[in-house]
Amino acid sequence: MAVIKRALISVSDKTGIIELAQALNALGVEILSTGGTAKLFREQQIPVIEVSDYTGFPEMLDGRVKTLHPKVHGGLLGRRELPEHVAAMQQAGIPNIDLLVVNLYPFEATVAKADCTLEQAIENIDIGGPAMVRSAAKNWRDVAVLTDASQYAEFITELKSTSGATSQATRFALSVAAFNRISNYDAAISDYLSSYKPDGSRADFPGQTNGRFVKLQDLRYGENPHQQAAFYRDLHPAPGSLVSAQQLQGKELSYNNIADADAAWEAVKSFDSAGTACVIVKHANPCGVALGSSPLEAYSKAFQTDPTSAFGGIIAFNRTLDAAAAEAVSRQFVEVLIAPDYTPEALAIFKAKANVRVLKIALPPGGDTPWAQGRNSHDIKRVGSGILIQTADNHEISVTDLKIVSQKQPTPQQLEDLLFAWRVAKYVKSNAIVFCGNGMTLGVGAGQMSRVDSTRIAAIKAQNANLSLQGSVVASDAFFPFRDGIDVLAEAGAAAVIHPGGSMRDEEVINAANERGLVMVLTGIRHFRH
Ligand code: 5GP
Repeated sequence: MAVIKRALISVSDKTGIIELAQALNALGVEILSTGGTAKLFREQQIPVIEVSDYTGFPEMLDGRVKTLHPKVHGGLLGRRELPEHVAAMQQAGIPNIDLLVVNLYPFEATVAKADCTLEQAIENIDIGGPAMVRSAAKNWRDVAVLTDASQYAEFITELKSTSGATSQATRFALSVAAFNRISNYDAAISDYLSSYKPDGSRADFPGQTNGRFVKLQDLRYGENPHQQAAFYRDLHPAPGSLVSAQQLQGKELSYNNIADADAAWEAVKSFDSAGTACVIVKHANPCGVALGSSPLEAYSKAFQTDPTSAFGGIIAFNRTLDAAAAEAVSRQFVEVLIAPDYTPEALAIFKAKANVRVLKIALPPGGDTPWAQGRNSHDIKRVGSGILIQTADNHEISVTDLKIVSQKQPTPQQLEDLLFAWRVAKYVKSNAIVFCGNGMTLGVGAGQMSRVDSTRIAAIKAQNANLSLQGSVVASDAFFPFRDGIDVLAEAGAAAVIHPGGSMRDEEVINAANERGLVMVLTGIRHFRH
C-alpha cells in the first residue's frame, strides 16, 4: 500500500477536479498545480502550491514550458525502494510526488472543429502533460496516475477506504490506461498532421490510412455466406469515393455489391472529362461501357454490349440521372445504381422498386492535386499472412503519348475510340481485350489466362449481342506476346489496336498488323489488373 502524501494536478478539462482535490485535501495530501488549475483551487479555498513556486522556475513560452523540470520528473520517476534513488533525490532536494492527475490539451476536440487552423492545432499539442503521464505511468509501482475525469469517483472511494493509499492492482490498471491515452493522443496528432503540408495546405495524398481504418458497417456476410465481413474506410478517404456514398433506398449493401459498386464507380469517374458515361459491372468486370449525349443514350449503348451479363448488374453514371434514363434502367434487373445525383422524377421511378439499392456519391471536386481528383494513394492486397502495398494505378495517357507503329495512320475518330477503349481496358481484369467503336464497348474479354482466349471471347460476346466488329478498335491491357492475338482480332473485323508494346516479339506483332492492314499504336505502359 502506497500512501499518497503529495499530488500534482494539472488539468485542461476541469470536470470533477474540485471534488477530487477536496477529497485529497481532507486526507492531508499536499497539492501542487499549474497556473489555471491552481487558480481554480484558490477560488475554492483548497490549499495549493503553484508548480512554479515549487520548482522556483516560472511558467514560460505561453505555457509551452510549465512542468518540464527535474523536481517534477524526478519526483515522479524516483524509485522509493532503491537506496541510490532515495539518496540522489535527497541530495538534489527532490521530494516524491505520489499521485499525478493530468488530462491533456484538447487536441482532438480542437481539430474536430471545421474552422481549425494548422496553427491552432499545433498550439493544442500538449508537451509537459504527456511527459508527466509517461513518467508517472512508468513508475506505477510507486505512483498513481489519473488521466480522465471518469476515473475520479472510484479512485476517491478506494482512497477513503484505505486512508489515502492505493493498491498495486489499481496503480497498474491506471498505468495501462495512461499509456493507452497517450498512444491515442499521439495517434490523433500524427493522423492530423499527416494530412497537411508545411504551408498549411492539404497534402497531395494525406496519410490515407496511417495504418488505420475506420469501420463503416458490419456486413451480413462476406464473399460467401459462411464468411464474416465488415466495410472499413481509410482514415482520410479521398473525396468522391465509394466510402462516402449515401444510400437513398434499397436493401442493405452486400460484400459483393460493394466490391462491384466500387469497380463501376471508379471506372465511370474516369470518363468525367470525356462526357456523359455509363458503366455496367458484373463480377468485378465492366460488361458494358459507353459515352452518350444523355444518360439514356449512354445507358442504352452500354446495355447493348452484353444484355445477358447486364442482368443483375451494378450500373453507374457520372452525371445526374434523369427520368428518361431511370425509366430505361428500371426495365432491367439491377442490383445497385450509382450516380452523383438524381432528378426527383428519376427517384420516383425507383420508389416502386424498393429493393434496388440507389447510391448517391458526389464527384471529387477536381483540381490539380491527385487528392482533389479523388485518387487513392495506395492499393492494398492480402497475401497469406502479409499484405502487398503499391501506389495506385493513377497513370493517364493522352493522344500525344501514343506511338504509331503501323504503316497505316489512325483517323482522328479512331484515335478517340482507341483512347476510350484503353481507358475501359484499365478497369477490366487481365488479360483484358476490349473491342470498341463509336464511344461504346462492343465486346469485352476479361480475366483469361491467355490473351488470345480473351480476344476470342470478346469477339464471341460481340457476335452474341449482334454487334458488328467491322472497323472496330481494340485495346489490350498488356502487350501481345505472339501474333496470334492480332490474327484473331483482325479476322473479327478490327481496324485499329492499342496496346503497351514491349514484347520480345514486337516486330512479329507489328508485321502482323501491317500484313492485316491494321492501325497499331503503343502506349508504353500497361494496366494489369488482377
Ligand atoms: P492549467 O490550466 O493548469 O494552466 O494547465 C493545465 C494543462 O497544462 C494540462 O492540460 C497539462 O497537461 C498541461 N501542461 C502541464 N505542464 C505542461 C508543460 O510543461 N507544457 C505544456 N505544453 N503543457 C503542460
